[in-house]
Order: sequence, then structure tokens, then C-alpha cells
Amino acid sequence: MTAVNKSHFFWKSDGTPGKPGLTAGEVAFIFLKEQNVKFKSGQRRKAIEYEKDLVNYWKDHKTFEKSVDMRLADNAYVFYDGPPFITGVPHHGTLLSSVVKDAVPRYWTMKGKRVERVWGWDCHGLPAEVFTEQKLGIKDKRDIGTKVSLEDYINFCRANMVQTGSEWEDTIDRIGRWVDFKGAYKTMDKDFMESVWWAFKQLYDKGKIYEGEKVLMYCTRDATPISKAEVAMDNSYETDTDPSVYVEFRLDKASSHKIAKLAKLEDENSKIKLLAWTTTPWTLNANTAIAVNKDIEYVLVVIFGDYYVVARKLAEKALRRDNYQLTDSDIIMDFPGSELVGLSYEPLLGVNRGMGAHQIWHADFVHDEEGTGIAHEAPAYGEDDYTLAKANGIPLVIDTDDEGYYTEGEWQGRQIWEVNKEVAKTLHERGVVWKIEYIRHEYPHCHRCHTKLMYRAHPSWFMDVDGQRREMLEQNGNINWFPEHIKQGRFAHTVESAPDWNLSRDRFWATAMPVWKGTSAEGKELVKVIGSYAELKELSGRELDDYHRPWVDDITFELDGVEYKRIDKVLDCWFESGSMPFAQFHYPFENVEKFENNFPGDFIAEYVGQVRAWFYYLHTVSVGLFDKNSFSNVIVTGTLAGNDGRKMSKSFGNYTDPNILMDEFSADALRFLLLSSPVLNAEDFALKEKDVADVQRKLAMVWNMYDFFTLYASVDGWEWNPPVAGQDGKLEDPSAECPNVLDQWILSRLHQLITEVDGHMQAYDIPNALKPVLPFLDDASNWYVRRSRKRFWKSGDDADKQAAYRTLHYVLTKLSLVLAPFTPFLAEELFLKLTGGKLGESVHLLDWPEAGHVNELLLKDMAAVRTYVNEGLALRAKAGIKVRQPLAKLSVPQVSQVVDFADILTEELNVKEVEFGATEAISLDLTLTPELKREGMMREVVRLVQSARKAAGLQVDDRIHLWLHTEAAELAKAIDEYKDAIKGETLATELLHAAKSAGDDVFVQPAKVEGHELVVALRKA
Ligand SMILES: [Zn+2]
Repeated sequence: MTAVNKSHFFWKSDGTPGKPGLTAGEVAFIFLKEQNVKFKSGQRRKAIEYEKDLVNYWKDHKTFEKSVDMRLADNAYVFYDGPPFITGVPHHGTLLSSVVKDAVPRYWTMKGKRVERVWGWDCHGLPAEVFTEQKLGIKDKRDIGTKVSLEDYINFCRANMVQTGSEWEDTIDRIGRWVDFKGAYKTMDKDFMESVWWAFKQLYDKGKIYEGEKVLMYCTRDATPISKAEVAMDNSYETDTDPSVYVEFRLDKASSHKIAKLAKLEDENSKIKLLAWTTTPWTLNANTAIAVNKDIEYVLVVIFGDYYVVARKLAEKALRRDNYQLTDSDIIMDFPGSELVGLSYEPLLGVNRGMGAHQIWHADFVHDEEGTGIAHEAPAYGEDDYTLAKANGIPLVIDTDDEGYYTEGEWQGRQIWEVNKEVAKTLHERGVVWKIEYIRHEYPHCHRCHTKLMYRAHPSWFMDVDGQRREMLEQNGNINWFPEHIKQGRFAHTVESAPDWNLSRDRFWATAMPVWKGTSAEGKELVKVIGSYAELKELSGRELDDYHRPWVDDITFELDGVEYKRIDKVLDCWFESGSMPFAQFHYPFENVEKFENNFPGDFIAEYVGQVRAWFYYLHTVSVGLFDKNSFSNVIVTGTLAGNDGRKMSKSFGNYTDPNILMDEFSADALRFLLLSSPVLNAEDFALKEKDVADVQRKLAMVWNMYDFFTLYASVDGWEWNPPVAGQDGKLEDPSAECPNVLDQWILSRLHQLITEVDGHMQAYDIPNALKPVLPFLDDASNWYVRRSRKRFWKSGDDADKQAAYRTLHYVLTKLSLVLAPFTPFLAEELFLKLTGGKLGESVHLLDWPEAGHVNELLLKDMAAVRTYVNEGLALRAKAGIKVRQPLAKLSVPQVSQVVDFADILTEELNVKEVEFGATEAISLDLTLTPELKREGMMREVVRLVQSARKAAGLQVDDRIHLWLHTEAAELAKAIDEYKDAIKGETLATELLHAAKSAGDDVFVQPAKVEGHELVVALRKA
């Protein structure tokens, strides 16, 4: 080994050459002046250091912009970003989707695609309004227009949305995601909203939009319907305790008479009551019908002289109460529900609701699994109730206002949820309730404000999803879903069961619905839908800076003598999200070619909740407008849970702030863990700090190899001679010039890795793409480098050593390319340190590496010999014999083809001889002769001297004077016998078998070998 004194510059720990204050990029520039790249040991930086530095490096050098701009526009790869809500804060879930949204575009960029990535902000809708109302101290919708003018309210909303979102930018930068923030679109932009108008009109003209009334989930605080998808997406069901009420409805005289006759009661004028069940007693005031199932068995029972009807199967449970238990003798008659259909009953609260009210109907939805088998119907407040009422002309009573306050009756002026239990108690006191129980159940709540939702018939505008359902299912066939089961599973089911889309909201801060209405001279309602600002100007002569409410509300126009006024509804903001692919380009008013040439988009990714939401809405709008799927490939992630598997929650304290995780273990480790975890398979995943730490430790194998490489390269003065500048960063494959079987093997492994990662990335299967990475690092570090170690120790400049340097440099550099999409910081740091910028200023500007030759036979052979090594080690461990102790013989069944098994096995298993083909299974001769024992002692002595060298703070190439002293004869004999070997391996120029006491320059360390005392003393020669 030659000690090399380097006078020229080299990488310093901060990535700068020789002098401080230069960034990594400037280094690249300086390096271009020198032909070869030189290395120095101890230059490795901490992850937190280089990660934070590289964020600035990329910004300073506009590396992201370059990576996009260097690719041709006609080779685009289109990524749609699902915009987060602007006032939201980044969290673990944001990071998860960001990591996916970064890795895939980086990969395709390396494959030569132009991947523009523009950030978007979702600005409209309830979250914005709730945010504003909290700031303004507004309690409910009625305050808007009274306490605060609508104009002020809207201006305030907009002002809040113009925040820079800098917290987002910092977090997104930290995790290493490249995205254009400056060009971000906002859904509240005038251009964006015009494209949304255009889309609405297109759909309207195609006959896909209609006005109607439906029972919808409805938030009384926000006074607007909430879609099922919104409730389902965030699973905003909460556990509520509600009264479970058994209400007594009395049949009218004629109907009682009929049942009494059927039962052959003595008194045919007996009063008979139906026991109906409800958990929303607040709806009883609006009751207009009762439903039974004609095919269910009912019973008539007599209790304390009163007669009740209830489903047979539920009778015992429904009637049981403190003072009563049903007995067979109480049952008077069994009869089918069909006998009840067509009968009439007395209004519960004394108010007759007129024609068609208070009759008993058959309904398929009535069952006898729960309750009483008899349903109270308030058609305005239930989907089934409403459908039944529409089909049969049953009157519909709406006795509440938009905020859920009664407008009539006993509880007028009170809020429905506030009196829900009170209604039940009052009726109980009046003797029209058999019993009240309380149940805990999951009930939908507003996903924005958590108000308990009601079901409510509400006039709305709908998109006809039913009419295009088949086409949507067909177009789903064009989409590649990962994981695949979502395609025919959750997504297809969502499409199959989707109701028509309620597009209208009774709110303020959103895209105004472009619908104007007028009334003809004959009193007929006329509708005019507007598709652009120009069209509106043509009709009204007016143009606005801002088409939000209330300004757009003021625009009226006259058409054929009829005055038109805008309806006061706004659009569901999911319609905006679904329009994002074209609205972000202001299509079709601008960018016609750009949009049309790149549609459908290539890739989207979000968490599983978006299958029913954004993914579904994109698809719905796209099929509606263009008869095409909106995106071609989609990755659906699962949800991240806390370290205990429960939902991440501050109150559980079950997760670590992502910034702390990244600072402690690196953003790359977090990225790698997430990308290789089941969360990429749409499964839930508990994020544990120790797993991030574990990945970080494994990725550090890269740096261990780098340290090893630079340690010896600096000592040997090995320099990397880059290919001629401007060769497109192509690294030369050294296979042809490196005949050593270890080099050939690791090169084959590397090429194999490149192919595997590439193949899985083409299929959007990131977990499987990453699967071979850590095993490769392990192979490279714990087999290739370890077994090659001696090749680097050799003195002189022989060809094999040169080959080892070349191979290791090539493998690590290529590895930086393979890792680039996944761990972009580590990849960049490694790449720049190994190439000095001579292959380009960033690894992220290079193409995906081509895989070279893979020698399958060699891979197979090496795998076989490694299996023998592991088996041999297991045999040694079982016998309790350390590897340091040499053994005489090993027998293995198989003969090698390419790899020299004997060479590897004698070294790895420390045996004198290997015998091939003589046995069925591997076997080890465990006999310890005195000779073997002494050799084992010698190995132990060498190890102790090496550790003493380290403890004394010597450099690897320092020569020493060594003294070894022992009273044990056998040990002394071993030292004497192997004197030269010990000297050689410990770089001792002199070895004395004598005691040496500690002096200024002598390091002394007592030790033990096989129970014998040994004193090691050494001094730098
Ligand atoms: Zn709400």
C-alpha cells in the first residue's frame, strides 16, 4: 500500500472542493477544468445536511425546470394533480401522495418524457366557507346577508384564499417533490370558472343535466345538501345515541273493524294499533303514511285489553318492556301483511294531511330484521319514503326550514336535533308510544362542520349518471389501476351504484351555476344556460372582473321579450375538480391543441377515499363530455395509521411529526419506506418510527460502500477518468475489461436490478420495483465489497485492483441513477460525489440506465455457493465453533461451473480443503487437531492486534512495532509458529515475544485468547 499525499483539491464534507462557500454545482463547474475525478476519504455528509442543501442546489440551478424543458413537447407524459384545499395544512397523508406523485414523474422523465407538473389549489366550496365563517364569527347561513353583506363575505373568502401556501411549499420541498408552485392554478380563477361553465353547458346541451327534487343528505348548519360521496370519502359517520321509539298508530274505525272481524274478536269495534318504529321521532310531525311488507307475517296480540299489530318475527323483542313479556296466549292471530295494505289510520298528532294521507302501503324496503316490521313514512325526510310517496301520490309535508327549524306544529321555531328526544318523551307521556329505548349507532355527519345530517327533499340540479353508466363502465376498461382489484372492485361498484349527481349547492363561494330563468307570457318556465363570458356579454351587454356571487347575480337579460334572472345556486366544487384536466388550461378558450393531444392524462395518484370522489368525478365529467376515460393509469394508496395501528391523532400521541422524522432519519428513508410499503397497494399502513430508522440504516449501506471506496481510492490515488465530456452522461460498462468473477457477478446483479425496477415501474407497481433494491445493496456491500476487500489492499497497481475500482465506481454511480426516482437526495449526493459533475450537473437530468449483459449462469452459481456458505455457518454455529477457528475439511454435493467454489468456501468457512460431489448434503469435519487449534489462536491474536491498532488511533496504513507477551505455552507456540503471518496482517515491522510497559508512545492492551492471558503492546513504527 502506498501512502498518497494529495495536494490538489477534492470533495469536502459539505460537497465543496478545497475551499469553503461553494455549492455542489460550482464544484461541478470547477471539476470540468480537470480531466480526472479524484477522491478523498471522510467526505460523507449527514443526510439532513445534504438533503437541505440539495433543495437549494436544485432551485439555484433550476434543475427541475431543466429536466422538463430538455424533453420534447410532443413526447409528453401527462400528470394530473388532485389539488389540496388551499387553507389545509400538510400532513402525513399529503406527504404520502406527494412521494408517489414525485417518484412516478421522475421515472418517466428519465425515460425521456416531458412531464410537466403544475400545482393546483382547490379554493371553493364549504371548507372555504367554514373557514371564513370561523374567522368572521358567523354561526349560521342566515347571518350572511344580514350580519355580513354577501359582497363582504365573498371578498373575505377570496382574500383568505390568496395566501401563499408557503407552509406547503416548504414541506413539499423537504420531501423532495418537484412541482411548479409559481404556475399553480386556482379553481377560483376567472379562466378556470369559464371552462367549468363551458363544461356545464356542453352537458346540458347533450341532455345530461336536469332539474329535479330528491331526498339528499343535508347539513342544516351550512344549509346545503351534502353528497353521499363526500360523506363516504372521509367516512364522516359518527357514533350517536338516538331514541329508538315504538310508536302506536291507531287504525281508523273501518280498518279496525276489518282486522277485528278477520280475527273473529268478540267486540268488532275493538281499537287496534300498529306499532311502528323510528329513530328520528322529529319526523313524526310530517308523517303521511305507514308502510308494511305484504309478504311478511304479522301478528295481532292483546295486551292489558289493548290490541297491537307487529311483525311476527319481531313481536317478542319489540313488545318486551319492564312490565311486559309476550306469551303465546297473548297472540290472537297470525296474518300476512297483505291484509294491512290499503287500510287507514288516525293522524298521530291530530293534523290531517289531506288526500292520500294516512294509509298503509306495501313497500319492498320494509323488512323484519329490526324494529317492528312497520315503518312510519315522512316522505320529505327519507329516500325510500320519498320514492314510495312519488309513486303513490302520497302527500309530502315539509315542516322545517333550511336550517332545520320547525315552521309549524307544536315545536315550531325549535331545531330538529335539539327536540328529537323531547318529541319522543312528549308522545310517551300522551300514551302513544309503547316504549323508548336508546341506541348507539353510526350516523352521517357533515364532513366539514360535523353537524348531524338530516335527509331532506330538496330541489336540485342533477347530472344524469344513470344514462351514461354503461359507457362509464366500458371506459373503465381503458384504465390501468394499481392495485388492480380496485378496477372491477371498488371503482366499478361506485359507478354501478352511483345515483344521479346533485350538482347544485345552496351556497355562495363557488362557481355560480350558469343558469338563467325566465317566465314566458303563457306562464311557462324558460331556461337559458350560458357557456362562456362572451355569450353572457352578448345577451346582457355586461362583462365582469369577477363572476362570483353576488356580482353575477345582478346580471339579467331579455331574450324574445322574456326577462331572465340567474338562479341563486352554485356548483358542487367536485364538478370543478372533475373539470380540472381541461379547466387548468382554460380549454376550449385556449390551449386547444395542448389539451386535445394529451388527453386522457397518463397518471394520477391519491388515497383510496378518492376512488368514490375525485377519481369518480373525473371519470364522470370526462365520459359525459368526451366519451372517454379521463386518465390512463392510477395508483391508489391506502391510509397511513399511527404507530399503534389506530387513526393518527394528536390526542392518541401515536405519530411523530413528519418533519421530525425526516430530520432524524432523512426524507429519503421516509420516501423509501412509504413507496415500498403496503400503503401503495391501497392498504392501511401503520407508520412506525423504527421502520423509518430501519430503512435509513439499510440505505446507509450505500454510504458504507462509498466510504470504503473513497478510503482506498484516496490512499491509492485512484482517479476516475470520465468519458469524453458531452457523452450524454453515458457511463462506460466495464464488463469487458473486468474479468474477475466478483466484478462480473456484481455487474450482472446491477443489470438485473435495472431491468427489474424498470419492468415494475412500467406497470406502476412501485412496491415490487423497490423490492430488489435492499437485497442488492446487501449483496453489493456484504458480498461484493467484503469479498473484494483484499483486492484493494494489494500494493502496486495491478490490473485486478484497477478493475475492482472501476467496477465499484461504476456500480455505485449506476445505482445513483436507479435510486433517483425514489430517493432523489441520496441519489444526487452520491452521483455528484462520484462523478464530480462530469456526467451532468444532476442525476435527475440523465436518462434511465440501460441494463447491460446479465450472466445468468454466474448468478446461479454464486447463489449456490452462498447457500453453502450459509449452511456451513449454521453447522459451525450449531457445534459452537467460531469461524476464526480453522477446520480441516468441508464436503459439498455440487460442483461449480463458473465460480471457483473452493476459493470462496475455504475463506468464508475457514477450512483447509473442500471436497466436491462426495456427499448428498453439505458436511463439515469438526475435528480440532492441536495444529488447527494453534492456527485458531493466531487468528484471534490478529483480531486483538487490529482492535488495539484502532484503539490506539492508528491509520490503516501505519506500520507498527509490536510486542506480544503470554505465560501460556500453547499460545506462545502459536505466536511463534505464525510470526510472519501476524506481522504481515498487522503491518508490524517488528514483533517481539516480550513484555512491554506503557510509555509515551506505547499503547498497551491486556486481552485473553482461549482463556489465556495475553498482553498486546504496540507503537507506530
Ligand atoms: Zn356542515
